Amino acid sequence: MIRLIKRSLASVFDLFLPNRCLQCSDEIEADTAYLCGNCWNALPLFPERTGEPFQSLRGVLDKLWVGWTYDDTVRRLIYLFKYSGRPDIAETIVSYWMDALPAQHKIFDVDLLVPVPIHSARRRHRGFNQSEALVEEIAKIHAIPVNTQALRRSINTPSQTKLDRTERWKSVADAFLIENQDIFQDKRVLIVDDLATSGATLHALAGLFHKCQAKSVSAAVLTSPYTEGSST
Ligand SMILES: [Zn+2]
Repeated sequence: MIRLIKRSLASVFDLFLPNRCLQCSDEIEADTAYLCGNCWNALPLFPERTGEPFQSLRGVLDKLWVGWTYDDTVRRLIYLFKYSGRPDIAETIVSYWMDALPAQHKIFDVDLLVPVPIHSARRRHRGFNQSEALVEEIAKIHAIPVNTQALRRSINTPSQTKLDRTERWKSVADAFLIENQDIFQDKRVLIVDDLATSGATLHALAGLFHKCQAKSVSAAVLTSPYTEGSST
């Protein structure tokens, strides 16, 4: 009976996770990779490569490192990662993400990695926090401490994509809570998230860490659709 259930589950997974590249349909070996090696390497690098933050984040964030531009392929990749219950693909994502970042030794010259928390209700529903899954893989590569406890999302903000700019900034400003301020004092903090649209979340978090007297606050984000002058 158990075997039957397992087999049914496996075939359900096969429906959603074919061993073919999401982009070019070439066959791929591991069903956790989603893309073939060529398509991973062809993902559009985010144009800002010097770590200069979005205009709205200058003076708040020290540096902002974005891996890829949020195009159609990246969007589908993120969607599968977040919503198909596959935190295990974080390892592959992070491995290609790290390769895509410039001068990564400087990016990770920090004291503490902090994933952007999701609300506990959303976490229960999704089964994991995607930013935490990414941070765990980054920490394995760079051996930097991670803190997932001191920062909490106290308000379950609506999906950012459904809000306009003003609503989005308003909804995140009070959504976070720091449980233990001492943890961030005199630390060079790197916030890690999967997606930054306007930068509202990063702005809110950087403000909180500065209040805790962090030495510096930077962020590493997997992908963003942001272009200078865009109103998103
Ligand atoms: Zn491909």
